[in-house]
Amino acid sequence: MLKIENLHARVEGKEILKGLNLTVNPGEVHAIMGPNGAGKSTLGNVLSGRDGYEVTAGSVIFEGKDLLALDPEARAAEGVFLALQYPVEIPGVNNTYFLRAALNAQRKYRGEDELDSMRFLKLVREKLKIMQISDELLHRAVNEGFSGGEKKRNEIFQMAVLEPKLAILDETDSGLDIDALKQVAGGVNALRDPARSFLMVTHYQRLLDYIVPDFVHVLADGRIVESGDKSLALKLEEHGYAWIAERHPELA
Ligand code: ADP
Ligand code: MG
Ligand code: MG
Repeated sequence: MLKIENLHARVEGKEILKGLNLTVNPGEVHAIMGPNGAGKSTLGNVLSGRDGYEVTAGSVIFEGKDLLALDPEARAAEGVFLALQYPVEIPGVNNTYFLRAALNAQRKYRGEDELDSMRFLKLVREKLKIMQISDELLHRAVNEGFSGGEKKRNEIFQMAVLEPKLAILDETDSGLDIDALKQVAGGVNALRDPARSFLMVTHYQRLLDYIVPDFVHVLADGRIVESGDKSLALKLEEHGYAWIAERHPELA
């Protein structure tokens, strides 16, 4: 589904990704861990095509297509979804209206018919049930005045409606209390599918108790330096990143 090779990227003229390799197959859940400033959010931003992230070398193939050649809207329509570490507020824009516009823009790009409000509401109701979230959030402006937990839940809800092939979740667990964490994890688990893959950036082993990943990677200094299964996350929790630095003197 996704093959990243030797990816180098700059932000504000500074090289952040320095030869990153990663392969994700359909249905797999990959957790990405790593110290602050390692480039985890940069990776998500580069994959989704955010402004200001300049790729200087390497390739990203998504479902056989050169992802880097597509504009951000095309990437979204192809099925790449990024849930931001800090979800943006869009004051004055109704959440439901926003979501329907986003979904219909993607459908139009794919040559599918647009959903009228009846069909859209039906879809929304189905997804609300799966996510077990209150429809009160739908009637408010996008993320405006939402608590941290509500923003994260709203991102998962958006994901449920947009049904991406590749979902990139950037620290979706940070700042959540245990009930919200379980709810968000439940939503992600409900969306796990043999045709859908997840890249989950997290600092905490705890999330991986609820969303059990197929692979865990450590991103340090712009590269994936360790890969393993869930036990790698447990090891990190036990030894911290000093353990990574010891194993990789080249990172110093
Ligand atoms: P992580 O998510 O792993 O904590 P980031 O990808 O957010 O790390 O950041 C990696 C590095 O890139 C940091 O040194 C950060 O300051 C820098 N960086 C990221 N985005 C920007 C930006 N928009 N402008 C300037 N520097 C940035
Ligand atoms: Mg960070
Ligand atoms: Mg980050």
